[in-house]
Amino acid sequence: MNDTVTVSLSDLVVERVGFGIFVLDRDMKVLMWNRFMQDHSGLSAEKVVGKSIFANFPELPRVWLTRKLESVFQLGSFAFSSWEQRPYLFKFDHDRPITGGVDFMQQDCTFMPLTRDREVVAVCVTISDVTHVSIVQREREEAVAKLQEYADRDGLTGIANRRYFEGRLRDEYTRWQRYGGDMSVLLFDLDHFKKINDQFGHVVGDTVLREMAQRVAQVVRIQDTFGRFGGEEFALLLPCTPLEDAMQVAEKIRHAIGDVPVEVQGVCVPVTASVGGASARVGVPNYDVLINEADAALYSAKRQGRNRSVAYI
Ligand code: GH3
Ligand code: MG
Ligand code: MG
Repeated sequence: MNDTVTVSLSDLVVERVGFGIFVLDRDMKVLMWNRFMQDHSGLSAEKVVGKSIFANFPELPRVWLTRKLESVFQLGSFAFSSWEQRPYLFKFDHDRPITGGVDFMQQDCTFMPLTRDREVVAVCVTISDVTHVSIVQREREEAVAKLQEYADRDGLTGIANRRYFEGRLRDEYTRWQRYGGDMSVLLFDLDHFKKINDQFGHVVGDTVLREMAQRVAQVVRIQDTFGRFGGEEFALLLPCTPLEDAMQVAEKIRHAIGDVPVEVQGVCVPVTASVGGASARVGVPNYDVLINEADAALYSAKRQGRNRSVAYI
């Protein structure tokens, strides 16, 4: 009497529980198929039980599943598979909005040995719907990537900020120290920018900065790192580039900035820039010195009358 109640209770639980439960024998024949599996596969226990699992689900990863089952039969221990390794076993729909970016129900699977007289007679597989976990994790990863992106960028111009630039410079400098070759740095500063702010206002000044950053970004190579170094000061890191070539780039940038005045709110704002360049050489002990040298060259360009580029030699 007691036994009958227990059996029917456990049957009830297996039927009602919110995850998939099914049992396979050594020949991959289905011995049990609970309600969750019926509801999500659209196939009743009657149709599935007694046949090979692959008869009704030919799309299952046959080799992987067979191997997994075999190991449980042989070792008699549990096996697992998480959605991170294999997003799903069965192609079940999920009940999340499609905007979640997940195609099918994400599943964690457990493979449990069912033992009788110390022999594994069957394997019970459970399937948990972890779609919500995978969506939250995906959103978190996207948010972290976005934060990382913002942390590296300058808010006004959208180009790399000083922190990111210096990180790249440090890496490139280390690479140069080890492998040699060439690397150059350009620093450029807009001429008489204070006057532009005074004459046209700070908002126009900001627009000029954005436009300048865009113009320069269009002429530099993707291998180069272009960053905002300070207020109206920018820096360009040129890996594998000797000073002579870097100064050609300097001239290209100077022309990109100065040749055509910026038009803001109907007014023409003429802008020019001065550029200083320096290259890594034996005797330059660290990247700070390289920046200082480029800065000294920039200062020299300013002193010589601005709107020009000067190399540190
Ligand atoms: P120089 O030719 O010697 O470089 O003259 P300058 O007027 O550009 O001199 P300086 O570099 O000392 O001044 C830079 C000015 O740039 C000061 C500041 O008002 C302005 N500035 C710095 N950051 C910003 C910014 O984000 N937006 C705007 N609109 N102006 C800025
Ligand atoms: Mg300036
Ligand atoms: Mg300045």
